[in-house]
Amino acid sequence: MSTGMHLTKIGFGSAAEASWVEIDASALLHNVGVFRQLARREDDDVRLGVVLKGDAYGHGLLPVLSSVHEHVDCVYVITAQDALAIRHFEREAHLAARDVLVLGAVSATEAVLLAEAGVAWVVGDATLPAVITALRAASAPRLQVHLHVDTGLSREGFLPHELVPLWQLVRSAEDVLHCKGVLSHFANVEDVTDQAYARQQVARFEQGVQTLAQLGAPRLERHMAASAASLVLPSSRFDTLRVGIGLYGLWPSSETRLSARVVLGETPQLRPVLSWRCRSQVIRTLEQGAYVGYGCTYRCTEPTRIAVFPVGYFDGYPRLSSGRAHVLVGGRRCAVIGRVMMNHIIVDVTHADIGDASSVLATLIGSDGEEQVGADVVASWADTISYEIVTRIGAHVPRRAV
Ligand SMILES: *Cc1c(COP(=O)(O)O)cnc(C)c1O
Repeated sequence: MSTGMHLTKIGFGSAAEASWVEIDASALLHNVGVFRQLARREDDDVRLGVVLKGDAYGHGLLPVLSSVHEHVDCVYVITAQDALAIRHFEREAHLAARDVLVLGAVSATEAVLLAEAGVAWVVGDATLPAVITALRAASAPRLQVHLHVDTGLSREGFLPHELVPLWQLVRSAEDVLHCKGVLSHFANVEDVTDQAYARQQVARFEQGVQTLAQLGAPRLERHMAASAASLVLPSSRFDTLRVGIGLYGLWPSSETRLSARVVLGETPQLRPVLSWRCRSQVIRTLEQGAYVGYGCTYRCTEPTRIAVFPVGYFDGYPRLSSGRAHVLVGGRRCAVIGRVMMNHIIVDVTHADIGDASSVLATLIGSDGEEQVGADVVASWADTISYEIVTRIGAHVPRRAV
């Protein structure tokens, strides 16, 4: 075990220094403020919850948590393991326990641990009977649960009519369960500017909430809106927002950005939290006619000064961006030439103002001077979305708070 950890350290040691991610804590707090503003209401404010799944969208669970913990009302994760890591962090840092909710699948054993840790769990699949049995066998404290209504995403959750037997089961297990909330999740708010389908989902959600009330459920916390709906569909805000991508300063989509301006009268200014930088390994000048990289897909039409950076698709820089990507060097856009490789990219720095430097810094995501490369732009080169770009930056790439 200790040998394995040592080898891991050596294995990643040099690569870890090759590129790194910077996390801007002030940008995180700024974005919390933007959603707090949206959550403001004349009577009582909507609660602000943040989604830290996927290692806080690749930003690093603990760095992000330590910045936002005291500024949000609740935290959502997918796994029981992450929820327990949050409880551990709170104990170590002598912080009060926040509301933490596990959105994903858990085993019966994990459910017992969640009950003991005072973490809530979303019931969205058929594990509940096994969970109830395990909770009783362990004489665990009551597990807080929220019920997931499937209103049209067809992922987890129960259709409105399936809530009747579900509620009977929950009520029959009141010795070990405490039902606190009801939720749903949208299918396509960020993909469209016409929210007809989302409004249908809201109507089904309200029908589900009403069904539960008719069955005698107490007043439950209702939550449905992720980032996009929080921004562009005020009727979906209910009691709590579940903000993921927006916390990290990224827009769910360009459609959402356009709609937000229409709905809110102005475009909220989100500040990107993550920058990804890399220091070059080699700088040299290639002759006219030289081929660059695997497949000889690029050929220099003139003498070309190149910088080789020790970062590639192993680290999460998408190979599909080959032939389209640029990075920032010295505040200028410089093309990535040839193919993105496993551990390298090659950048044309002929027109960057680098003098005779033996090493330069590249910004793969983030800003340098006046120029900016957004995660959404990198995503467009790779036919994907910013969510995938940031969550796929390798876990071995160090995250540093700045
Ligand atoms: C991921 C997720 C969110 C957050 O979505 P964003 O678009 O990143 O804001 C909210 N709720 C559920 C259930 C999710 O899975």
